[in-house]
Amino acid sequence: MAKQTVFSQIVAGEIPSNKIYEDDLILSFHTIAPEASVHALVIPKSNHLERISDAQPEDAELLGYMMTKIPEIAKKLGIHESGYRIISNSGKDSGQEVDHLHIHIIGGEKLAGFNGKQ
Ligand code: AMP
Repeated sequence: MAKQTVFSQIVAGEIPSNKIYEDDLILSFHTIAPEASVHALVIPKSNHLERISDAQPEDAELLGYMMTKIPEIAKKLGIHESGYRIISNSGKDSGQEVDHLHIHIIGGEKLAGFNGKQ
Protein backbone atom coordinates (compact mmCIF):
# COMPACT_ATOMS: atom_id res chain seq x y z
CA MET A 1 0.00 0.00 0.00
CA ALA A 2 1.30 3.44 -0.93
CA LYS A 3 2.64 5.54 1.91
CA GLN A 4 0.54 8.40 3.28
CA THR A 5 2.55 11.60 3.64
CA VAL A 6 1.94 15.27 4.23
CA PHE A 7 1.54 15.59 0.44
CA SER A 8 -1.23 12.99 0.25
CA GLN A 9 -2.93 14.95 3.05
CA ILE A 10 -2.59 18.12 0.94
CA VAL A 11 -4.07 16.30 -2.09
CA ALA A 12 -6.95 15.08 0.09
CA GLY A 13 -7.54 18.61 1.38
CA GLU A 14 -6.84 17.48 4.95
CA ILE A 15 -4.18 20.12 5.39
CA PRO A 16 -4.05 23.46 3.56
CA SER A 17 -1.59 24.51 0.89
CA ASN A 18 -0.91 27.68 -1.05
CA LYS A 19 -1.94 26.36 -4.46
CA ILE A 20 -0.55 27.56 -7.77
CA TYR A 21 -2.01 25.01 -10.18
CA GLU A 22 -4.25 21.96 -9.96
CA ASP A 23 -5.83 19.51 -12.38
CA ASP A 24 -6.92 15.87 -12.26
CA LEU A 25 -3.35 14.52 -12.28
CA ILE A 26 -1.07 17.03 -10.59
CA LEU A 27 -0.95 19.75 -7.97
CA SER A 28 1.50 22.61 -7.55
CA PHE A 29 1.85 24.67 -4.38
CA HIS A 30 4.36 26.88 -2.58
CA THR A 31 6.73 25.14 -0.16
CA ILE A 32 6.41 26.06 3.51
CA ALA A 33 10.20 26.49 3.71
CA PRO A 34 11.38 28.45 0.65
CA GLU A 35 15.07 28.31 -0.20
CA ALA A 36 14.82 31.14 -2.75
CA SER A 37 12.46 34.05 -3.51
CA VAL A 38 10.27 31.65 -5.48
CA HIS A 39 10.12 28.02 -4.42
CA ALA A 40 7.23 25.83 -5.51
CA LEU A 41 6.60 22.10 -5.68
CA VAL A 42 4.82 20.00 -8.28
CA ILE A 43 3.45 16.61 -7.29
CA PRO A 44 1.37 13.90 -8.91
CA LYS A 45 -1.91 13.48 -7.04
CA SER A 46 -1.26 9.76 -6.99
CA ASN A 47 1.12 8.70 -4.23
CA HIS A 48 2.26 5.48 -5.89
CA LEU A 49 5.76 6.88 -6.55
CA GLU A 50 7.76 7.81 -3.46
CA ARG A 51 10.64 9.11 -5.56
CA ILE A 52 11.93 9.18 -9.13
CA SER A 53 13.87 5.99 -8.37
CA ASP A 54 10.52 4.16 -8.27
CA ALA A 55 9.54 5.23 -11.81
CA GLN A 56 8.50 2.45 -14.18
CA PRO A 57 7.86 2.56 -17.94
CA GLU A 58 4.11 2.85 -17.29
CA ASP A 59 4.78 6.14 -15.43
CA ALA A 60 6.22 7.80 -18.53
CA GLU A 61 2.99 9.57 -19.46
CA LEU A 62 2.43 11.00 -15.97
CA LEU A 63 6.06 12.08 -15.58
CA GLY A 64 6.10 13.63 -19.05
CA TYR A 65 2.87 15.43 -18.26
CA MET A 66 4.39 16.88 -15.06
CA MET A 67 7.42 18.12 -16.97
CA THR A 68 5.39 19.74 -19.73
CA LYS A 69 3.21 21.58 -17.16
CA ILE A 70 6.24 23.19 -15.51
CA PRO A 71 6.51 26.09 -18.02
CA GLU A 72 2.84 26.96 -17.42
CA ILE A 73 3.42 26.89 -13.65
CA ALA A 74 6.58 28.99 -14.08
CA LYS A 75 4.50 31.56 -15.99
CA LYS A 76 2.02 31.72 -13.10
CA LEU A 77 4.99 32.22 -10.75
CA GLY A 78 6.37 35.04 -12.92
CA ILE A 79 9.72 33.30 -13.49
CA HIS A 80 9.21 31.94 -17.00
CA GLU A 81 11.37 34.66 -18.54
CA SER A 82 13.94 35.12 -15.75
CA GLY A 83 14.68 31.39 -15.45
CA TYR A 84 14.53 28.77 -12.75
CA ARG A 85 15.89 25.41 -11.65
CA ILE A 86 14.00 22.15 -11.21
CA ILE A 87 15.16 19.49 -8.76
CA SER A 88 13.74 16.16 -7.66
CA ASN A 89 15.47 14.76 -4.60
CA SER A 90 15.49 10.97 -4.53
CA GLY A 91 16.55 9.01 -1.49
CA LYS A 92 18.75 9.37 1.56
CA ASP A 93 21.83 11.09 0.13
CA SER A 94 19.70 13.72 -1.62
CA GLY A 95 18.15 14.80 1.68
CA GLN A 96 14.64 13.89 0.49
CA GLU A 97 12.23 14.53 3.36
CA VAL A 98 8.81 13.74 1.91
CA ASP A 99 8.31 10.28 0.40
CA HIS A 100 5.88 11.37 -2.32
CA LEU A 101 7.46 12.19 -5.69
CA HIS A 102 7.85 15.94 -6.14
CA ILE A 103 9.69 18.40 -8.33
CA HIS A 104 11.00 21.64 -6.83
CA ILE A 105 10.78 24.79 -8.99
CA ILE A 106 13.21 27.38 -7.66
CA GLY A 107 13.87 30.88 -8.97
CA GLY A 108 13.10 34.55 -8.57
CA GLU A 109 16.76 35.35 -8.00
CA LYS A 110 20.21 34.40 -9.31
CA LEU A 111 20.75 30.86 -8.05
CA ALA A 112 24.01 29.51 -6.66
CA GLY A 113 25.08 25.89 -6.26
CA PHE A 114 23.62 22.81 -7.86
CA ASN A 115 20.80 21.71 -5.59
CA GLY A 116 17.96 22.90 -3.40
CA LYS A 117 19.77 22.25 -0.12
CA GLN A 118 22.01 25.29 0.17
P1 AMP B 1 12.41 17.23 -0.13
O1 AMP B 1 13.46 17.58 0.88
O2 AMP B 1 12.93 17.19 -1.55
O3 AMP B 1 11.64 15.99 0.26
O4 AMP B 1 11.39 18.44 -0.13
C1 AMP B 1 10.24 18.49 0.66
C2 AMP B 1 9.65 19.84 0.49
O5 AMP B 1 8.32 19.82 1.03
C3 AMP B 1 10.39 20.98 1.21
O6 AMP B 1 10.48 22.10 0.35
C4 AMP B 1 9.45 21.27 2.39
O7 AMP B 1 9.54 22.61 2.82
C5 AMP B 1 8.11 21.00 1.74
N1 AMP B 1 7.00 20.78 2.66
C6 AMP B 1 6.95 19.94 3.72
N2 AMP B 1 5.74 20.01 4.32
C7 AMP B 1 5.01 20.92 3.61
C8 AMP B 1 3.69 21.45 3.71
N3 AMP B 1 2.83 21.06 4.67
N4 AMP B 1 3.29 22.37 2.80
C9 AMP B 1 4.13 22.78 1.82
N5 AMP B 1 5.39 22.32 1.67
C10 AMP B 1 5.83 21.41 2.55
